[in-house]
Amino acid sequence: MPDFKRTLVTSALPYANGHIHLGHIAGAYLPADIYVRYLRIKGAPVLYIGGSDEHGVPITLTALKEGVQPRDVVDRYHSANADAFARLGISYDIYGRTSSELHVDTTQSFFRALDAAGYIHQEDMELWYSEQLERFLPDRYVKGTCPKCGYEDANGDECENCGAQYAANELVSPRSVIPGDASSPVLRSSRHWFLDLPKFTDRLKAWLDSHPEWRANVKGIANGWVGDLRSRCITRDTDWGVPIPIDGPEAEGKRIYVWFDAPIGYVTNTRQWGMDTDRGEDAWQAWWKDESSRLLHFIGKDNVPFHAVIFPAMLMGQDGYVLADNVVGNEYLNIFNRQTGKSEKGSKSRGNMISVRWALEQFAPDVIRYYLCAIAPESKDSDFDWDDFMHRYNGELCDVVGNFVHRSLTMTVKNFDGKVPQPGAFDAEDQAMLDAIPRQVDEIAEALDGFRFRQALERFIDLGRKANVYFNTKEPWVTRKTDMERTATTLYVCTQVVKALCHTMAPFLPDGAAKLAGILGVALPDGGPDGGADGWNAAKETLAAGAALQPPKVLFPKLDPDYIAELAEAHQRGEGF
Ligand SMILES: [Zn+2]
Repeated sequence: MPDFKRTLVTSALPYANGHIHLGHIAGAYLPADIYVRYLRIKGAPVLYIGGSDEHGVPITLTALKEGVQPRDVVDRYHSANADAFARLGISYDIYGRTSSELHVDTTQSFFRALDAAGYIHQEDMELWYSEQLERFLPDRYVKGTCPKCGYEDANGDECENCGAQYAANELVSPRSVIPGDASSPVLRSSRHWFLDLPKFTDRLKAWLDSHPEWRANVKGIANGWVGDLRSRCITRDTDWGVPIPIDGPEAEGKRIYVWFDAPIGYVTNTRQWGMDTDRGEDAWQAWWKDESSRLLHFIGKDNVPFHAVIFPAMLMGQDGYVLADNVVGNEYLNIFNRQTGKSEKGSKSRGNMISVRWALEQFAPDVIRYYLCAIAPESKDSDFDWDDFMHRYNGELCDVVGNFVHRSLTMTVKNFDGKVPQPGAFDAEDQAMLDAIPRQVDEIAEALDGFRFRQALERFIDLGRKANVYFNTKEPWVTRKTDMERTATTLYVCTQVVKALCHTMAPFLPDGAAKLAGILGVALPDGGPDGGADGWNAAKETLAAGAALQPPKVLFPKLDPDYIAELAEAHQRGEGF
């Protein structure tokens, strides 16, 4: 990896049109947060940008159905989701909004720059129009029969059933979804603006080819798109969105389409962060335009075309922007249905999704973070399964790591006056355990550097496994009756492993790490945009004999099987959201 001065991390902006759920977390937010926390503890300068996507037809449709304004809808879900993220420990530097005035400015400047460079043109399109309401019916305002598969509940521009995308006038038997609109939609001509994506084909290909290290799923989707690029409409007939920066009657009643403005939200929110933190109006430029800055996008699979093709083209079409160094795209988290014994997609209509707010009413954040990382859908879909959830958390985090930490610290505090004991001479087993620490820390780092979060977590648990084997071989509960020097040496070695576990769990399990750091009296550096001390490699440093320890507390309380069974049933009844 080239030497970067700073890393800008983004997670897909969720629609402020519903509560975020565990599928979102596993896809775009937890992996990004683990990576950001890892860079922070390493002391590498990093900035983590998130926020709500507050435009788009789903939001205006929700408002219409509820009889409220779009502003009411986005205000409600923006604060609910910001709160859910914060409580789960998703540690954004800013959680901004695309309905801000600043975002109008950023988006319009993108439009103007791309237009001036010749990448935007106009076309007249045939679109569905309601004569009764005297308005156009963009994409989801109209439903009908899919021209490809015959599905009768297809959207105006895409079919949920077969995944087909098509022009509005291809939809068969269209009907308006606006309550009270009884008229049959008719086709009417409307002027729209298009981004000339084919002009970027060669540059996009060369850029994608320069990144053989990306995940195969992301490369596959991106290459598929680049092989077949078409101009893409960037405007919509709606009054909710960023106004087109063009004067004249042809721009009236039109706004910029949400797919165009949403990723620009990353830039807006970086600008906002600079102003909020008194770094100045131009602070964002170092993150976006300095060639020693690294840009990373974390997303779910459905977002790959926007982050690995379209947004990069929008950046290429202007001066000075860096392009993503990696687009870390995940597959989907499905739900295992215990009644049917089958995996199924999370969906609102099935009522099987688990919201973050509901999950946080049942579990501590570390419990949720542990399981979602352990089953991260990195290369293929994975299942949320209640039995697996309990067994992984109880059997790995509690029994392996939690148990080792607790046994070691309890015996040490009790037998050695609350201090790290002075060791005697190390035998081969002591030395092997001590030697395993830096090796294991480096292996966890190697997996994190490669965005293999599941493997990184496995390697962390593996350090706990090795430590348990060591502890059981040394039997300090036996030797303390006969040989205190031997016991001191064993528990000294154990304490060093506990310290390494403390530093290395910090990216995954921030609450457990903070508690343990308090017990050990060690500092876990938490650098930020300016960087700081290297607390990651400090995992390999010795906790000196004589250092004071606080009485240990249980870091990861076990889940009760009866309670989990109750929750699984509540979830089955559709109460998980
Ligand atoms: Zn279809």
